Amino acid sequence: MFYTPADLIRPEILALAAYHVQEAHKLIKLDAMENPYSLDMDTVKQWLAVMEHAPINRYPDPAASGVKTLLRKIMEIPDTLELIIGNGSDELIQMILLTLQAENRVVLAPEPSFVMYKILSQIVGMKYVGVPLNAEDFSLNLPAFLQAIETHQPAVIFLAYPNNPTGNLFKLSDIEAILKAAKGVVVIDEAYAPFTDAHCLSLLVEYPNLLVMRTLSKLGLAGIRLGFLVGNQAWLEHIEKTRLPYNVNVLSQLTTMFALQHYSTFTQQTQTIREQRAVLFKQLSRFLQLTVWESDANFILFRVENAREIFNRLKQHGVLIKCLDGGHPALKDCLRVTVGTPEENEQFLRALQLSLV
Ligand SMILES: *Cc1c(COP(=O)(O)O)cnc(C)c1O
Repeated sequence: MFYTPADLIRPEILALAAYHVQEAHKLIKLDAMENPYSLDMDTVKQWLAVMEHAPINRYPDPAASGVKTLLRKIMEIPDTLELIIGNGSDELIQMILLTLQAENRVVLAPEPSFVMYKILSQIVGMKYVGVPLNAEDFSLNLPAFLQAIETHQPAVIFLAYPNNPTGNLFKLSDIEAILKAAKGVVVIDEAYAPFTDAHCLSLLVEYPNLLVMRTLSKLGLAGIRLGFLVGNQAWLEHIEKTRLPYNVNVLSQLTTMFALQHYSTFTQQTQTIREQRAVLFKQLSRFLQLTVWESDANFILFRVENAREIFNRLKQHGVLIKCLDGGHPALKDCLRVTVGTPEENEQFLRALQLSLV
């Protein structure tokens, strides 16, 4: 007789819940940390002129050299460091894990943090261990984290800086203490670099096992899927072997190069988002029913009694945000709103006002 799926599918895959994305049809979409601004028509026309000549009958440049050259220039990545391009940074996380995977090897990350660290660890068959953040301000519990390093000897540690979904930056002295204590690879995930002045690129010269990961998704290019990993050649030459030869398609490569040549357009947008974040934070803080946490990213986390009910009411008022209740215990009754345009933020606040009564 035939095998059933349950006979053959790896137990860790059977146990996994499919990654669920909320339907956003006709809703104001403030759930996924996207940049709300589109490009002006003039810029769109220039972009289309580039697309017109895209050689879609050919495989893309496997080395993505045009993309890498511009990334080095604009992100100020020194020539002494290597660079790997991913189909979004999600794929880079997967590549790092595939490179280091072995039975009983541990992946360590603070919790709550970006869920893909855990999901991808489970998919590749590594053991994932989460270390709770301090409950009141989501800072690192350094003694607990160092103890977990000692106990589990992780092959890889992920630190999102700023952290998702909490929005805060961990203390640099805590990060350095972790870098000093860890024998394995430490990945600092700077997906929200466009919204903060803090970054860890300068630590790369000092710590040979540090890798810094970035993405263009939150900058304003979530649709093209482009992430990159920066680090020492000794690690990256091996991680590179797990990359599928044509992982970033020709349209994404050309669009990335175009975007990097128009980088100031995007930094103007992210600057506006940073300003709007301050406005939104102030307005949210006026609601006495909410606990609101300061953020260095393009979203704000807040707690409200009956979060699920509030989330549903917001949806009925036409606004989709993210409900985090039911995930990690530290996120009980927590909601996360992405900073939108001033109009979208106003509509969200109005919907919130109506939902709270
Ligand atoms: C959004 C996000 C990513 C995923 O980025 P992609 O490049 O779109 O795959 C990675 N890390 C963190 C912390 C994020 O919030």
